[in-house]
Amino acid sequence: MKSFDLVVIGGGPGGCVAAIRAAQLGMSVACVEGRGALGGTCLNVGCIPSKALLTSSAKYAELSHLAAHGIGVIDKTLDLGTMMGRKDKIVGDLTKGIAFLFKKKRPYLSVCSRQGFMVPNCTRFQ
Ligand SMILES: Cc1cc2nc3c(=O)[nH]c(=O)nc-3n(C[C@H](O)[C@H](O)[C@H](O)COP(=O)(O)OP(=O)(O)OC[C@H]3O[C@@H](n4cnc5c(N)ncnc54)[C@H](O)[C@@H]3O)c2cc1C
Repeated sequence: MKSFDLVVIGGGPGGCVAAIRAAQLGMSVACVEGRGALGGTCLNVGCIPSKALLTSSAKYAELSHLAAHGIGVIDKTLDLGTMMGRKDKIVGDLTKGIAFLFKKKRPYLSVCSRQGFMVPNCTRFQ
């Protein structure tokens, strides 16, 4: 069985930073993440997606206040699919960015997922 100097459970902001820093210091590190993507609550379902959707919502809400500026909007529409797609792209781009940082640190840093391997050559933990 493969062994590591350090196994970090969770690939959120805390776990990712700890794992990358330990790898930078020369340790062989495994980071185990059950979600299937790095970034944890913050990147996948918390801070980032909520702010992406808040930005879109704020732009939509602003349309109601434009009359005071003398700006008329005749056809206000909201395409929820596009809004969610924008949010998903932001989340996807950022999670790929963290995965790239992990890949750069191979073979010292492996990422394992309960769903399967997230980074090639990673040891699977059950
Ligand atoms: C809606 C929302 C909005 C937020 N907005 C902000 C904000 O604007 N600013 C801010 O600073 N903070 C915000 N937060 C808080 C922020 O998300 C957390 O503080 C941050 O994610 C904590 O990071 P963490 O690494 O400690 O834990 P997490 O991000 O929760 O990461 C832990 C990871 O460990 C994994 N895990 C847990 N147990 C296991 C296991 N046994 N095996 C494998 N994997 C496991 C989980 O799947 C998870 O991905 C928000 C949170 C929410 C819910």
